[in-house]
Amino acid sequence: MDLQTQTELKRLFETKLNAAMRLYLETCTRCGVCVDACHVYQSMPEIKYTAVGRAEVIRKVFLKYFKLEGKVAPWLGEVIPLDDVAIDRFYDAAYSCTGCRRCMVYCPFGIDTQMIMSIAKLLLVGADREPKLLSMLADMSIAKGEDVEGSRAGFEEAITNIEPEVEALWKSPPGKKVIPLGVENADVLFVGLSGKHSIIPAAAILNAAGVNWTLSSFEAVNFGAFLGDPKRTKAIMGRIITEAERLKVKEVAIVECGTAYRVMKQQTGKHPFEVVAFVELIARYVRNGKINLQKNISDKITYHDPCQVGRNGGIYEEPRFVVRQLTDAFVEARPNREMNWCCGGGGGLVAMGELEFRMKSARVKADQIKATGAKMVCTICENCHSQLTDLNEHYEMGLKVESLTNLAAKALKKA
Ligand code: SF4
Ligand code: SF4
Repeated sequence: MDLQTQTELKRLFETKLNAAMRLYLETCTRCGVCVDACHVYQSMPEIKYTAVGRAEVIRKVFLKYFKLEGKVAPWLGEVIPLDDVAIDRFYDAAYSCTGCRRCMVYCPFGIDTQMIMSIAKLLLVGADREPKLLSMLADMSIAKGEDVEGSRAGFEEAITNIEPEVEALWKSPPGKKVIPLGVENADVLFVGLSGKHSIIPAAAILNAAGVNWTLSSFEAVNFGAFLGDPKRTKAIMGRIITEAERLKVKEVAIVECGTAYRVMKQQTGKHPFEVVAFVELIARYVRNGKINLQKNISDKITYHDPCQVGRNGGIYEEPRFVVRQLTDAFVEARPNREMNWCCGGGGGLVAMGELEFRMKSARVKADQIKATGAKMVCTICENCHSQLTDLNEHYEMGLKVESLTNLAAKALKKA
């Protein structure tokens, strides 16, 4: 690594050193309470897969450049230089961590290892060592935001083509647009994913509720957040914010995507609209009588709390309320809610592929679901859904893996 690059990386490191981050880097007592909290360590017991082990490489670089004792007494062995070896170790630490923050719940000081890993991810971007697939996907999202007009005709045609599939779930009144686009002053701007599977069930539920809604031109997923790149994270969510403000919508409802929900809800500041996870709308529409759901599931079913919606987003009860509208055979996985095991697919790992690592590192998740005896698991995050589908196949669990929005759409009934 040349001196110029190292200087630039040190500058980037410094941009992350706010008061909370300094506390996380300086407070760890190496007590080891977090060790067993990490699903990766539980499944692959190596010290480098503990929260404290991952953070150690960042702490040693921090000590060398940003603490007096590291500058004056580096021979004490607690420091390492910011060089190519350190960058390799940053990659291994950051991209074997899903950012689930289960370790933070256990740590007596509330040390946020995911935040510490955000330093590693930022420096990997600065060193041009970030995962190139995530980088390409982030750039494609941003390019799409810069050329909405160029893709409008194709997008509108694709949306029109899926309307019959929405109508198969819920028939709209004659003359009513099945998937509305560009509606000003709508109550809800629904932000889906790039696949039609994410739009069809949500459109059916919104139509059944009879609300004034409109579909976003953009997909919710934020590859900039997976990369830990603040500029690209902001650019990707900025497309949706600009659209919501232009249309003057009251609420932005985020599809089943944990990271997209957390980024929009917690990292975009104040707006003239509310941000909700789509499951919150489903629960609200059931409670206020706008939709009716039938109990059409007889198989034993469990629910997986996605880390970014549950532990990091605080949404635990709405999905359980919705599942209970669909079945009398709901069973909790244990542990659950803030203690739930991560599925092992977060932090960009599903998008990157990484099948072997994802399967090995989430053995504890497969064991947890098997122990419920459920025949079906549902969730409200596309990433978790993909990972659970892979786990189901790899560990021969014999499950059906379902999207809760999809299950709710299939259970819609007239009053
Ligand atoms: S955030 Fe999750 S994956 Fe990362 S160290 Fe903590 S428990 Fe492990
Ligand atoms: S539980 Fe907290 S203080 Fe203890 S080793 Fe883990 S991060 Fe450090």
